[in-house]
Amino acid sequence: MRTPKKIYSSVFSEFSLQFHTISCRESLLTSLLFALNSSHSVSCCRAIHARVLKSLNYRDGFIGDQLVSSYISLGFADDAEKLFDEIPHRDLVSWNSLISGFSKRGDLSKCMNVFLTLKSEFSLHMNELTLIPVVSACTSAKARHEGQYLHGIAVKFGMKLESKIANSLINMYGKFGCLDSAFRLFLEIPEPNLVSWNSMVAICTQNGIPDGAFQHFNMMKHNGLLPDEATIVALLQACENLPVVKLVETIHAVIFTCGLDENVTITTSLLILYSKLGRLHASHKVFTEISKPDKVAWSAMIAAYAIHGHGETAIELFERKVRQGMEPDHVTFTHLLSACSHSGLVEEGRYYFHIMSNVFGIQPRLDHYSCMVDLLGRRGLLNDAYELIKNMPLEPNAGVWGALLGACRVYRNIELGKEAAEKMIALDPLDSRNYIMLSNIYSAAGLWDDASKVRASMKAKGVIRTRGISFIEHGKKIHRFVVDDYSHPDANKIHEKLKELVRKIHEAGFVPETDSVLHNVDEEVKMGMINKHSEKIALAYGLLVTSSDEPIVIMKNLRICRDCHSTVKFVSLIEKRAIIIRDSKRFHQFLDGSCSCGDYW
Ligand SMILES: [Zn+2]
Ligand SMILES: [Zn+2]
Repeated sequence: MRTPKKIYSSVFSEFSLQFHTISCRESLLTSLLFALNSSHSVSCCRAIHARVLKSLNYRDGFIGDQLVSSYISLGFADDAEKLFDEIPHRDLVSWNSLISGFSKRGDLSKCMNVFLTLKSEFSLHMNELTLIPVVSACTSAKARHEGQYLHGIAVKFGMKLESKIANSLINMYGKFGCLDSAFRLFLEIPEPNLVSWNSMVAICTQNGIPDGAFQHFNMMKHNGLLPDEATIVALLQACENLPVVKLVETIHAVIFTCGLDENVTITTSLLILYSKLGRLHASHKVFTEISKPDKVAWSAMIAAYAIHGHGETAIELFERKVRQGMEPDHVTFTHLLSACSHSGLVEEGRYYFHIMSNVFGIQPRLDHYSCMVDLLGRRGLLNDAYELIKNMPLEPNAGVWGALLGACRVYRNIELGKEAAEKMIALDPLDSRNYIMLSNIYSAAGLWDDASKVRASMKAKGVIRTRGISFIEHGKKIHRFVVDDYSHPDANKIHEKLKELVRKIHEAGFVPETDSVLHNVDEEVKMGMINKHSEKIALAYGLLVTSSDEPIVIMKNLRICRDCHSTVKFVSLIEKRAIIIRDSKRFHQFLDGSCSCGDYW
């Protein structure tokens, strides 16, 4: 196979031959410019440079400026600056190429220096091509003061409202999290174009304000502009962490009406989003409507089956696509192994882990190892999982140890659990979940002293426990609940409903699993504490407000506890309701008293 380097050197040798034989200045210039644009090495740049010195002038076709850009992009700033000084009658194009070169290299200080020199020492009128690269260098370097200074310069030179400059400043403020400044600037633009609106949608999304993203999108439509790929991708991202199915359906309709349904990037994002919101059917429908699904699309579909616990269907899709000639990559295998793991398909998982490297030549990465540890751990094969970790050629990360820790929690293996938790704490001493997990393992075994030592060390290190929050969508609004939450306007009704539920399931023979509660307190107190968990409150609310044929969909930022899990199973049986809970790990689909996760998560 020809390496890129070889391809390149053959192109260059053809050109060097030509350079010697070309006598016409015009043709020589064209050849040199072409060679320069396709060159990726400094030796080639220097050869072209030498030829320019011999037969041409730096100003011919701006070849001097282009050489400057090439030297910078190859990382040879000194050569670039030396050449820049040699170029006679430097004009704005020369300065701009130097500035943009440093900006592309991410060298803010050089970029800024050149910009300031140009501004103070030469009476050239800068244009948008001067300013935008400096703004973008500030954006990447998160240089707030410099950014504000450039905003001032844009005002001073009357360039603030030129749409490209305004858009780059809006993006910059968005990246800095200074939304007020971005909004103010946006409002000043007399006629914002599609890029300006997209910038507003995107910065709202990046800053966790999905409502703002949708407001700007609606205003943009009122102004008669049609969304493009960038708009839709930003909107879909805005929905990612919110249970907002209605909004996603709205975007889906927009995708259709704007004729963007042939765009695989967009349809794949939509497929992923439906799956994350618990709508596997909708995901599957989107997938079947993609006329030519690429590797990213079918890997995303496998991932969707995986988190919903449809391991066999994921395998079927994988096998079908491979038969059709699709080449799986490491991402496909991560999803496939995770599908095996989520569905407890140990033998299948082992088989695919084996053929991944032996048949497809893909070396296992950390993600693949954590799937395998999860898979083995789930079956209680804790020693096999531990052996796999000890023998892996890579340094295990938090994902790998976390999978083992999860298994130790379920199978109550204190010894391995302790080791896994300690490794996790060493890797990320500020993540409260690891301390809680270790403390829970000790509590479940009745080792109260050890449990309280863990909590004390967590406190001593100033680690704050992540608050559990559950979300549920109703009436075009997202309702959020924390533990023991009375802030909702219908709080009294909700808590009445919850009490009624708890009474009903106890009558039906439910036994609470109070070892999910950390503290060494009386059983009765513990029961009071677990009955106030946020997902139970959200569930009670869901039962109050949704009709009996609708599934109840709840999202939770942390892993669901054992007691809530068992409670929801009982509720799905006695209330005859489909309940879907997405926790930080996966989807749980509760129906007729059982859960799709098979009680392992
Ligand atoms: Zn709970
Ligand atoms: Zn479950």
